[in-house]
Amino acid sequence: MKINENYRNLNENYLFATIAKKVKEYKAAHPEKEIIRLGIGDVTLPLAKSVVAALKKASGEMGEKETFRGYDDEQGYPFLKEAIRGYYGAKGVSADVSEIFIGDGAKSDLSNILDIFGTDNAVLVPNPVYPVYVDTNVMDGRKISYMNASKENGFLPLPDKNVKADIIYLCSPNNPTGAVYGREGLKLWVDYALKNKAVILFDAAYECFISDKNLPASIFEIEGARECAIEFCSLSKTAGFTGVRCGYTVVPNELISNGIKLNALWRRRQATKFNGVSYIVQRGAEAVFSKEGLAEIRENIKYYMNNAGLIGAALNKKGVYYTGGINSPYIWFECFDKMESWAFFDYLLENFALVGTPGAGFGEAGKNFFRLTAFNSLENTKLAADRLLNIK
Ligand SMILES: *Cc1c(COP(=O)(O)O)cnc(C)c1O
Repeated sequence: MKINENYRNLNENYLFATIAKKVKEYKAAHPEKEIIRLGIGDVTLPLAKSVVAALKKASGEMGEKETFRGYDDEQGYPFLKEAIRGYYGAKGVSADVSEIFIGDGAKSDLSNILDIFGTDNAVLVPNPVYPVYVDTNVMDGRKISYMNASKENGFLPLPDKNVKADIIYLCSPNNPTGAVYGREGLKLWVDYALKNKAVILFDAAYECFISDKNLPASIFEIEGARECAIEFCSLSKTAGFTGVRCGYTVVPNELISNGIKLNALWRRRQATKFNGVSYIVQRGAEAVFSKEGLAEIRENIKYYMNNAGLIGAALNKKGVYYTGGINSPYIWFECFDKMESWAFFDYLLENFALVGTPGAGFGEAGKNFFRLTAFNSLENTKLAADRLLNIK
C-alpha cells in the first residue's frame, strides 16, 4: 500500500498543546495563583431546558416498539429541516427543504464538501484562519493561497481582482478575529465569485451572535449568493451543542457547475458516505428552533456577549485596537507594546495568571495579535477584565 503523501505536507499544530503545557508548568510553580482561562473556544453554559426535555422525550420513544426508529433519510428528518427553513425565513432568507442538509457539525461538513470539488481548484483562505480550512485542502493536495486580514482592512479582506481563486473560504463572524462582514463587503465577494465562476464556502457557525440587524447573518441575504455560495451552520456555539453534535449545510439549487447541480452532488456524497444524525439529537435540535428554545439560547448568548463587552470595555480604556467583542464571542486585539503573540502570552500568564490564545497560532498575519473569548463565567471574566486594566 501507499499512504496519501499529502499528509506529509501538514503542519503539526502545536498551538493548544503548547498552551496546555505552559499553563501546567505555571500552575506547578505557582499553586497559589488563580488562573483565568479566556483561551477556550468551547461553550460553557449547559443546554437549554427545552432542548434537554426534547432529548429525553426522544430517548423514551427509542425505547418503545411503536416509536423506535432505525435508519432514515441521511439528509435529516423533515421536522428539523422545516424548523431550519422557518429560522431562515425569520431572517428574510428563503431556503427550500431540498437545500438543507442535516449533519453532525460544521467541521465535518466543511471538510467533507471537498469531496465534490476537483483537486485542481485554486483555494483562497484568509490569514489568520480557522485551521480546518487549510488542513483539509492540504490533505487533498489543493493549491492554497492566502489573503491577509490586517488592521488596515479591519480583518475583513476584500477580493483582489488579480487573484484567481475557485474555492473561497469566508467565516463571518470570524474565528479567531471576531470581525463581521457588512453587506457591501459580502456583495463584493459574491460579485467576484460569480465573475470567476468560483464557489464561496461560507462558515456561519457564529451567526447567532450577530445582534446588529444591519449585518448579514447569512450569505443568502446577499443578492446573487444562491448562484455561488454554500453556507455551513452549527448548533455548537449557537445552542451549546459542541458535545451533542448537530449542524446544517445549505446548498442552493441554483448552484451549478458545468451543468451539474452541486446540491445533487452533495446529496449523492452524503447518501454514500453518511448515515445521518441520530433521531434523538435531531429532536433536540428541533427544540432549539422552537419559541422557548430560541428564547433560552438567546439568554445564553446574551450572557456570553455581556462577558465580551466587559473585555472590550477594558481594552477601550487601555486604548488598544481590537476587532470582535460585539456580534461575536471573540475579541482579537493587538498585543500591548507591539509584542509578539507568544511573548505576550508568557507575559500575561507570568504576571496576571491570564490565559488567552496567541494570534500566531492562526497564521502569520496573527503574530502580533491575541484572542480572548467570552466563554467563561461572568465572575472570571470580570476578574480578567480587571487584570487587563492593570497591565502597565
Ligand atoms: C466551532 C466552529 C465551527 C463548528 O464546528 P462544529 O463541528 O459544528 O462543532 C465551525 N467553524 C468555526 C470557525 C468554528 O469556530
